[in-house]
Amino acid sequence: MAIPKLFGCVCGQFHSPGEALGMTPGTQVAVPIPFYVIDHPDGVALFDCGLPNGMTDRDEAYLTRLRAGGSDVTLTDDETVDVHLRRLDIDPDRVRYVVLSHLHFDHAGGLHNVPNARLVVQRREWEAGFDRELAHRYFLPRRYFDLGHQVQLVDGEHDLFGDGAVTLHPSPGHTPGHQSARVRSTEGDHILVGDACYNCGVAESRIFPEFADHAAMNRSLDALLAMRDPGTVMVWGHDVDQWRDKPVLPRVRA
Ligand SMILES: [Zn+2]
Repeated sequence: MAIPKLFGCVCGQFHSPGEALGMTPGTQVAVPIPFYVIDHPDGVALFDCGLPNGMTDRDEAYLTRLRAGGSDVTLTDDETVDVHLRRLDIDPDRVRYVVLSHLHFDHAGGLHNVPNARLVVQRREWEAGFDRELAHRYFLPRRYFDLGHQVQLVDGEHDLFGDGAVTLHPSPGHTPGHQSARVRSTEGDHILVGDACYNCGVAESRIFPEFADHAAMNRSLDALLAMRDPGTVMVWGHDVDQWRDKPVLPRVRA
């Protein structure tokens, strides 16, 4: 097995009432929007792709809907996906894969930066994105993910490079075809949970977002937790503590 390098990047912040993220109710919280760079000898893969560049001044319609629910996002020019990649000396044009945990705008939004990448998505998720009812219920606006990339649809578990270094694991519930990844890298063994669980506290409290399928989320989270070996680090979807003083992964800083 070729051992990849793994980096974490923070592409903006999500602001929201605490209860929406399973955090302290009645407070307004700001959480990081991470994406991950997997530098493998056979190519560069991203897990998720952050927010779109210029999000805060270009998509008024979406922001209006978000703000109506008490949420918002912020993104500075030095936190965008392309800027992070260049800091790692990676030309965005040579990113080979983007594994999408799911199609939400804070995970798929930066795809316009990596036009040559092949998207690797669970079939159920992609189909939900094109299903009027599901797309509405689960907030999957097509303009963030349907940009003409080559798309590889997978059903269930998938070994991205065929060598066991990066394996994908369905973890539906947050959205219909959500997936997580296990990455065995020079940094150790990590499970990139995505929004199957927003933060460490939610792994206990099981307070999930209103729109989600809670029974499915419970099953998925149980399955992910059962995959842990001693030493496996769970990297939660939007966990403030994992990106503060001692980041959970080598962090490419703005
Ligand atoms: Zn998210």
